[in-house]
Amino acid sequence: MSEYIVFGQPILGDEEIAEVTDTLRSCWIGTGPRTARFEDQFAEYVGARHAVAVNSCTAALHLSLLASGVGPGDEVITTPLTFASTANVILHAGAMPVFVDVDRETMNIDPSQIEAAITQNTKAILPVHFGGRPCEMEAIGAIADRFGLKVIEDAAHCIEGRYQKQKIGSISPLTCFSFYVTKNMTTAEGGMIATNDEQLATTLKMHALHGLSRDAWRRFSDDGYQHYEVVYPGFKYNMTDLQAALGLCQLPKLEQWLRRREEIWQQYDEAFAELPCWLPSPAASETRHARHLYTLLLDIDQLGKSRDQVMRELHELGIGVGVHYRAVHLHQYYRERFGYEADQFPNANWISQRTISLPLSAKLTADQVDRIISAMTSTLSVTQLN
Ligand SMILES: *Cc1c(COP(=O)(O)O)cnc(C)c1O
Repeated sequence: MSEYIVFGQPILGDEEIAEVTDTLRSCWIGTGPRTARFEDQFAEYVGARHAVAVNSCTAALHLSLLASGVGPGDEVITTPLTFASTANVILHAGAMPVFVDVDRETMNIDPSQIEAAITQNTKAILPVHFGGRPCEMEAIGAIADRFGLKVIEDAAHCIEGRYQKQKIGSISPLTCFSFYVTKNMTTAEGGMIATNDEQLATTLKMHALHGLSRDAWRRFSDDGYQHYEVVYPGFKYNMTDLQAALGLCQLPKLEQWLRRREEIWQQYDEAFAELPCWLPSPAASETRHARHLYTLLLDIDQLGKSRDQVMRELHELGIGVGVHYRAVHLHQYYRERFGYEADQFPNANWISQRTISLPLSAKLTADQVDRIISAMTSTLSVTQLN
């Protein structure tokens, strides 16, 4: 049997290994010069004036909420069709997540439903660029302006994205990125906050490192010992130079990897057009889709089998797949604490039952893509019973 195709494989090569080795040899393995360089290069890539490196996107979102003044008694509007941490961090900040259903086509938060969810307590909107498809930022920004709300973007899927020619990372006051293993680039674990606001950048940096007035990078430099002052009970969210070493190698390859994923995407679209499923919606004009997830929606009624059954069959054929997502409101904690019903967010619920994500890593070979296509085609062939 041929090799199992793992979902979401990173590309790590000799260059990454050499850079990590050099970092170890330099003995500067904590937050240091490589982290600073990675921040500068990342800021440039996403068109932001500043970028603050942290140890996850979850940390990035948490710090961004706090830096936006979100706290107890506040509400934050977000999508239920996301990774749980988007909503979890709102709770970490002491605030309440308020879900607004997604559009079935784009799988992004439906801007036309946001206004109805705004109350006196609403402080911020936290849109997620699902699968790499930029949200309708113009509509979201207009609502935020009208009601005086902050916008924090969860761009974990959308490093390479552009909305109306603006790079994702250059639009809102705060945009958060992820470098988790399966994302478009990886630092093993890691995240970044992009901002054009220097003061916010300074605050975020401080809060990411215990709330110290001077970061360790300066504290441990050869300028001699400098006293630090704790100005806020901050967090331990800083990125290390070992992680940044990977980031520095991965960042320059993003564009080339995106082109490879665009090719695979097109092959999938052509191969699956006639199968009992809905293809991911094409990118809106004037936007660039970052092609993070290729999610099909299975026509389970026509198929006569569930999404989980299809997943089991693909697994047996040696294909690893993902589910993005079972909506947050369907998870135990959220159901029990907030009393959500599944159909309270009908589109997110509908997608949750049908969605399946196929491997889309730029690492996939032509043979592997062919194997995925033929496995899908045989699994989704509707057998005629007559
Ligand atoms: C991966 C992901 C996160 C969390 O990223 P980490 O770096 O693993 O903390 C947040 N939001 C979305 C939409 C994600 O996909």
